[in-house]
Amino acid sequence: MKIAFIAHDKKKDDIVDFVKRYKDVFKDHEIFATGTTGKLISEMTGLKVHRFLSGPMGGDQQIGSRVAQGEMDIVIFLRDPLTAQPHEPDISALLRICDVHCVPLATNLGSAEVFVKALKR
Ligand code: PGA
Repeated sequence: MKIAFIAHDKKKDDIVDFVKRYKDVFKDHEIFATGTTGKLISEMTGLKVHRFLSGPMGGDQQIGSRVAQGEMDIVIFLRDPLTAQPHEPDISALLRICDVHCVPLATNLGSAEVFVKALKR
């Protein structure tokens, strides 16, 4: 499956820990990510990551376009709900396009854990 990861700055440690924890699961899938998130995941886990632009520079929109084209199967997006983001319109657009195309979207670690359980099956 094609899986996209995005994490806001205060969630980057969480996403790296999460991917490390389930590296055995994710190694069998194609991993995509926004710029900084992808750099950290590849450095800290050794997994191959296709990196898009950084989120505030258009990376969320690039992932959204893959979703719209039916080229992304799962999005794991650890948002920071307590900090204002300069690219809020891009974030809303990504959430919306996942819903339009019924692409599974996890916006917190609880739902991301459920996705991993499904991937393990
Ligand atoms: P980043 O982008 O991975 O490049 O930090 C994430 C975001 O803030 O949307």
